[in-house]
Amino acid sequence: MGLHTGATATVTVYPAPPHQGRYFGYQDQPDIPAHLSSVHQTQFCTTLKQADTTIATVEHLLAALAGMGIDNARIDLDGPEVPILDGSAQRWTEAILKAGYQVQSELRLRPTLHHPVLVQDADAFVMALPEPHLSFSYGIEFPEPAIGKQWYRLSPNAFLSDIAPARTFGRAKDVESLQAKGFIKGGSLDNALVCRQDEWLNPPLRFANEPVRHKLLDLIGDLSLLGYFPPAHYVAYKASHSLHIRFAKRLQQALLG
Ligand SMILES: [Zn+2]
Repeated sequence: MGLHTGATATVTVYPAPPHQGRYFGYQDQPDIPAHLSSVHQTQFCTTLKQADTTIATVEHLLAALAGMGIDNARIDLDGPEVPILDGSAQRWTEAILKAGYQVQSELRLRPTLHHPVLVQDADAFVMALPEPHLSFSYGIEFPEPAIGKQWYRLSPNAFLSDIAPARTFGRAKDVESLQAKGFIKGGSLDNALVCRQDEWLNPPLRFANEPVRHKLLDLIGDLSLLGYFPPAHYVAYKASHSLHIRFAKRLQQALLG
């Protein structure tokens, strides 16, 4: 079931040849590349669009693929939104591990970053600091004591164990007002952690800092729409899907320029 539309869908991920990238197939419509150029909307989730077809909430599946280093895949689905499952990327990573994957023999040289890139919105920001190795840090700060201030840095090769299981989270007051307006039709306590002030309505958490880990999952999914990760330390603070995507576009310009 989709978190935002409440619509059900079946997703099948197929191998794709080297350098094809990742792309979505919906019925007999033209393929939708999982690329920044396809981004349509970034309110609440990341939605791609090509011609008349939109596909919502692509970020967790794309994070699962990117976190496992899978550059090429055809993703077929028969509904308007990628299912939310348990709110994390774990069911995707488990299914991909079970199916197995191949390392591509020919590698492509990619542009690297030579100077820092930063986007800001009030006190929120996303930045990249050029470094020889890839790393990600995220910070969040919420007035609810249940979340509070959390900073997390992803250790190399820890995506499967430390990030993929982290679930979507929300605040009870936001969930109630969004549902009253007809949003998050598929949202439930089975697919999102929900907090009210100093308590979680559906404990236990999988990690004490599960919320910030989930933000890092979203960042990896959104940034992967660039097509690859230039080696850098990526740092985000209080960002959103829309700031992640603005940053990815700025990064793309910096790499081209
Ligand atoms: Zn998410």
